[in-house]
Amino acid sequence: MSLANGRRYLAIPGPSVLPDRVLAAMQRPSPNIYAGELVDMISGLWADLKRLAGTQGHLAAYIGNGHAGWEAVDTNLFSRGDRVLVLACGNFGHGWANALRALGVEVDLLDFGKRSAADPAQVEAALRADTSGQIKAVLMTQVDTATSVKSDVKAIRAAIDAAGHGALFCVDCIASLGCDDYRMDEWGVDVTLAASQKGLMTPAGMVFVWFSEKARLAGQGAGLRTPYWNWGPRANPAPGEFWEYWHGTAPTHHLFALRAALDMIFEEGLAQVHQRHARLARAVWAAVECWGQGNAAIGLNVAAPAARAGAVTSIRLGAPDATRLRTWVEAEAGLTLGVGLGMGTPEDPKADGWLRLAHMGHVNAHMTLGAIGVIEAGLNALGIAHGAGAVAAAGKAAFAPHP
Ligand SMILES: *Cc1c(COP(=O)(O)O)cnc(C)c1O
Repeated sequence: MSLANGRRYLAIPGPSVLPDRVLAAMQRPSPNIYAGELVDMISGLWADLKRLAGTQGHLAAYIGNGHAGWEAVDTNLFSRGDRVLVLACGNFGHGWANALRALGVEVDLLDFGKRSAADPAQVEAALRADTSGQIKAVLMTQVDTATSVKSDVKAIRAAIDAAGHGALFCVDCIASLGCDDYRMDEWGVDVTLAASQKGLMTPAGMVFVWFSEKARLAGQGAGLRTPYWNWGPRANPAPGEFWEYWHGTAPTHHLFALRAALDMIFEEGLAQVHQRHARLARAVWAAVECWGQGNAAIGLNVAAPAARAGAVTSIRLGAPDATRLRTWVEAEAGLTLGVGLGMGTPEDPKADGWLRLAHMGHVNAHMTLGAIGVIEAGLNALGIAHGAGAVAAAGKAAFAPHP
C-alpha cells in the first residue's frame, strides 16, 4: 500500500514548489493589458526585481524559459564570429556554450568538470593570453543546477580585473537568484539572467535579463539582434507603450503570481531567505555524509562546502540505486527527486547512480527534513546499505546556530 496521497512534494530543482499565495494570485479573470492594475504594477515589479538582483541597471523580460534567456543575452551582445569565454561546471554551462555556438559565436570553453567551481586563476590566464582583446565576454553559471556546483562570482570578477581585460561579465543565476547571495552591481557583473520557475517560485514562462549601461553600449552593434529579442524597448519602453515590455501581449497571470512571490521574499527578508536556503542545504549535506559512512557508494557530488549550491544538492548513490530510490520515494511517499542530469558515464550511461534533492524556493524545515526521512525509509525498504543517524544529524545541522 502506498502512502503517496496527500500533498505531493516536487523536489526537483525547477519548477520549484508554488506557494498557495502565488497560485491564488493567478485565480482571476484576464486583465486589461492597455490600462489598469496590470499596467500600474509594472514599475513596482521592476523595482523589486532590480532590488533582488542587486542592481540599478536595466531590466528586460521575456516570455520564455531559461534557454530563451540565454538566447536573449547572446543576441543582444554578439555578432556571428565574435569570440567569448564560457566557464562550465556541468550541464548548464555546456548548454549556454552550445546555444552560443549554434548562433555562430566562437566559444573558448574552460571546462572545470562536474565537481569543482570555476577556477579564477585559469580564467585570468585565458584572458591574459588574449592579447588582442578578442574575447567579448566571460559567461558563467553561479550555480550549475545539474551538478549543484556553485562558483564564486566575485572571484571571477577579480580574475577579469587582474588580467586587465575589458570583457563583459555575464552570469546565469537561474538556479541561485532568491536562494544564494548575489549582488550584481557590487560584484561588477554586466549581465544577469534568471527565470521565474526556480527561486522566484512562479510558474515557468518568464525570464529576466538585467544589464549594465556598459553592456547596453557594448551590445548596440550586435549583429544577432532581432526585433523580438532586442532588449532596448523592453527595458525602456516608450511612454504609454506597455506592450513594448513584452514585445506583444504581457504574460498576464504570471505577473500577478510574480507580484505575490516577490512580496513573500521581501516580507521574509532577502538575507533571511538566503539563510534559510543555507541551513536547509547544510541539513541535506549532514544527512548524506551520515549515509555515506555506511556505504562508500553514497556521497555528495561536491566536496568543498564553499562550492555547494544553496538550492539543490547532487547526490551519488551508485547505479542503479539512485533510480531505484527515486522511483520508490515517488510511488510510496509522494516525493519526486531530480534525475542525475548530465552525470552519465560509460559505466552508467543513464546516470542511474545519481539524483538531486532540491531545497529551492518555498521550502521549509519540515519539507527538507521530511524528504530526508523518506529517503532513509527508501534506503531501508530497498536494502541499500547506509550509515545511521542521518535524520538526527540533518535536524541538528538545520537548527544549530550558524555564523
Ligand atoms: C534551469 C536552468 C536553465 C534552463 O532553464 P529552462 O527554463 O529549463 O530552459 C539554465 N541555467 C540554469 C543555471 C538553470 O538552473
